[in-house]
Amino acid sequence: MATSTVPAAAEPQAPETERQETPVMVRQLRWEATGVVSVLLARPDGGQLPAWQPGAHVDLLLPNGIVRQYSLCGSPDDLSGYRLAVRRQPASRGGSEYVHSFLRPGQPLRIRGPRNHFRFEPADSYLFIAGGIGITPILPMVRQAAAAGARWSLVYGGRSASAMAFRTELAPHRDAVRLYPGDESGRIPLTALLERTRPDSAVYACGPEPLLDAVTDAAAHLPQGTVRMERFRPRTRESTCNTDVQVVCARSGRTVDVPAERSVLDALADAGLPVAGSCREGVCGTCETRVLEGVPDHRDDILSEDDREKGDRMYLCVSRARTPRLVLDV
Ligand SMILES: Cc1cc2nc3c(=O)[nH]c(=O)nc-3n(C[C@H](O)[C@H](O)[C@H](O)COP(=O)(O)OP(=O)(O)OC[C@H]3O[C@@H](n4cnc5c(N)ncnc54)[C@H](O)[C@@H]3O)c2cc1C
Repeated sequence: MATSTVPAAAEPQAPETERQETPVMVRQLRWEATGVVSVLLARPDGGQLPAWQPGAHVDLLLPNGIVRQYSLCGSPDDLSGYRLAVRRQPASRGGSEYVHSFLRPGQPLRIRGPRNHFRFEPADSYLFIAGGIGITPILPMVRQAAAAGARWSLVYGGRSASAMAFRTELAPHRDAVRLYPGDESGRIPLTALLERTRPDSAVYACGPEPLLDAVTDAAAHLPQGTVRMERFRPRTRESTCNTDVQVVCARSGRTVDVPAERSVLDALADAGLPVAGSCREGVCGTCETRVLEGVPDHRDDILSEDDREKGDRMYLCVSRARTPRLVLDV
């Protein structure tokens, strides 16, 4: 039987905890690499922040009204602060741009969460694959695997060495870490790596869409569930045709007709039902809702194939229905 020294992931937090807002202040801002700053957040009263596990992220509620998700990349053992790292996006509509241009130490902010859809589970060995800022959720996993004495390796690619954050933190693990700065070493040799990956390993990957698509292709021979990914942006998809759906909200005893041009989330929110959303792109998980009857048409980038087949939960911001009626736990 497979044994592992990595502790089992804690049970998922209750949705109420995930949606809870916590006041924080910026304790420190640090330049980590070209275009990347880290932000240390702490409670203004010096108290402890909610517990989290590797793979978790928080919603950062910025003073300009924008809400963005950022992975926790510090240590889950130190709840006196949360560390995030933010890459400046050139065409930013205000999330990363605000963090880079306006955030200041001492500034009060609010966060929501933590929330975790990229859970680090026990396995015989691990292959971690990170591209660019996708290193953030991977870093705490690497530290946990190393601390537990597990077998692991990390391949980490970026445009250039100077744009790759946390290289110094990874230096003590140089035997297990291979860096691929694109301008020096080219691309991560995913096909060769994944061919050598044993079926009882777990592969955790986070990075830009082309990297994750290449991982999916190169891992096609591995058993379903071996590769777990987190996407910071929704996958590019062909547009899908929407149809009307009737949503029965079992807990509230209300029925809402959702027209084809409205999302289920917006229609339920407009009807005054207790639902919450954040990214509205099917990547953050804030609007996760239990499905009691009916078959969801999953259009998110969070659920694994296994979870999709189960069909017991859905993300209301993007997903719809394959049946004319859905009964939800709302
Ligand atoms: C679960 C989760 C965890 C995340 N963790 C982090 C993190 O640790 N660090 C971090 O910097 N970001 C992270 N993100 C992304 C982050 O939430 C924002 O989307 C990002 O900061 C861009 O916001 P913006 O308002 O600056 O840009 P937007 O206005 O949202 O986007 C500007 C342009 O850049 C493109 N774009 C945005 N993000 C990316 C990207 N990652 N790669 C390529 N193109 C992109 C958009 O498509 C758009 O064209 C995470 C997202 C999710 C869902």
